[in-house]
Amino acid sequence: MTLSRRGALAGLGAGLAAWPALAQKQMFDPVGGASGLNLSEVQIAAGQALLARHPSVDVHAHPGRFFLRDLMRQNATTKAMGAPFEAKALTDMSVGHVTAALFNCVSDAVLLEASKTGGLTFARQFDPGEAWADYQRQIGVLKAMVKRGDAARGLDGRDIAQALKAHRTAAVFAVEGGDFIEDKLERIATAYADGVRSITIVHYHPNQIGDPQTEAPRTPGLTPLGKDIVRTLNKSGIVVDLAHSSFGVTKDAVEVSTRPMMISHTNLKRPDVDHPRLVSVEHARLVASHGGIIGSVPSGIGQKTVADWIQSILRLIETVGVDHVAIGTDMDANFMPVFADYADWPLIPSALLARGLGEADVAKVMGGNFLKLMAAQKA
Ligand SMILES: [Zn+2]
Ligand SMILES: [Zn+2]
Repeated sequence: MTLSRRGALAGLGAGLAAWPALAQKQMFDPVGGASGLNLSEVQIAAGQALLARHPSVDVHAHPGRFFLRDLMRQNATTKAMGAPFEAKALTDMSVGHVTAALFNCVSDAVLLEASKTGGLTFARQFDPGEAWADYQRQIGVLKAMVKRGDAARGLDGRDIAQALKAHRTAAVFAVEGGDFIEDKLERIATAYADGVRSITIVHYHPNQIGDPQTEAPRTPGLTPLGKDIVRTLNKSGIVVDLAHSSFGVTKDAVEVSTRPMMISHTNLKRPDVDHPRLVSVEHARLVASHGGIIGSVPSGIGQKTVADWIQSILRLIETVGVDHVAIGTDMDANFMPVFADYADWPLIPSALLARGLGEADVAKVMGGNFLKLMAAQKA
C-alpha cells in the first residue's frame, strides 16, 4: 500500500522552499488519506527539518530488490518478485532524505518459497558451493552500486555523517542469513573486508547457526558452530542481527555475545495480534537490556496504516526505552507493507514529533541509536 503522491504537497507553502525535490514530486497526502496520520503542513515541515539536521538510518532494507540482480537460477518466489529497480529506490531515498540504509543481501534467497500460512519457507537445501557463490554475486551488485556512485560508501559513522552533509544515501552492506558462512569462520573476515557491517544470523532457512522463528525448532538455541560464529562476528566488528532468530537462539546469543546486538525488523506481540515473526516483551527487553536495539517494521502483520505502525514504534519505545528503538522497513521485500515508498520517509519523524516525542528522542530512533550500536562493535 503506497501513500497517495498526487497533489498534496502542491498546496503546501514556504516551508517546502528548502525541499525542492519534495515539492517537485508532490509527495504524500498530509491530511487523512491512506496513511491515517492526519498531519498538518507545519508538522510535516518539522519532520523534514529534523531529517536535514540528523542522520537517519533504515536498519533493515533491500532497496529496489538489488539481491535479485544477475540471479542465475530463478524460482517461483524470485520470479514473482519481478525485476530489480535499484535506481528508482535510490531516487526515492534521496527525495526522502534517508541518510543510510542497511542494504541486505539475502543469503537463502535461492531456497525460498511461499509457505502455506502466507509467509516464506525453504523449498530445498543448498547445492555444494551455492551459498558462497550467491553471496559473492549479491555483494558484487552492492560493490558496483557504490563504485558507480549510485549510493555513497557506508563503512562507519564517519561515512554516514558525510552522506548527511552531502545529501546522499550511504549503503551499509549487510546480509540476511548467515548460511553463506557455512563452517568457514574465515569468511566473516572476508565479509568485513567486503564492507559487510551486519549479518542476520538466521533467516527463513534453518541453518548451521540455529533455527528461525517460523519453523519447528530442531535445536533449543545456537549450535556450537553458531556460538563460534557469534564470537567471530564480535571480533570482526560486524553487528549480530537477531531478526528471525528463535527466542532460544536469541537467549544463547545474549549469553555469548560481548557486543550489543539488534533485532532489525519486528514488532511486539499484542493480546490481539500474534504471529511467529513478532516478539514478546521479554524477548525484546532481553536484547535491549544488553545494549541492543529493536527495529520496528511496517509489515501488514497487525498493522493496516502508517498510523498503526507509528503506534507500534511508540509501544516499543514504552517497552524497551527510547535508546533501544530503530526503524527497519524491510523495503522492498516487506510482507504486505503499510509503508512502501522512501519518498514518504519524512512522515515518520513528523508523526513521532506530532505524538509528543522531543527532537533528540526522535533523532535517536531515526538513526542515532544505530550509529551508537555500530560504534560499539569494535573496541
Ligand atoms: Zn527479514
Ligand atoms: Zn529482509
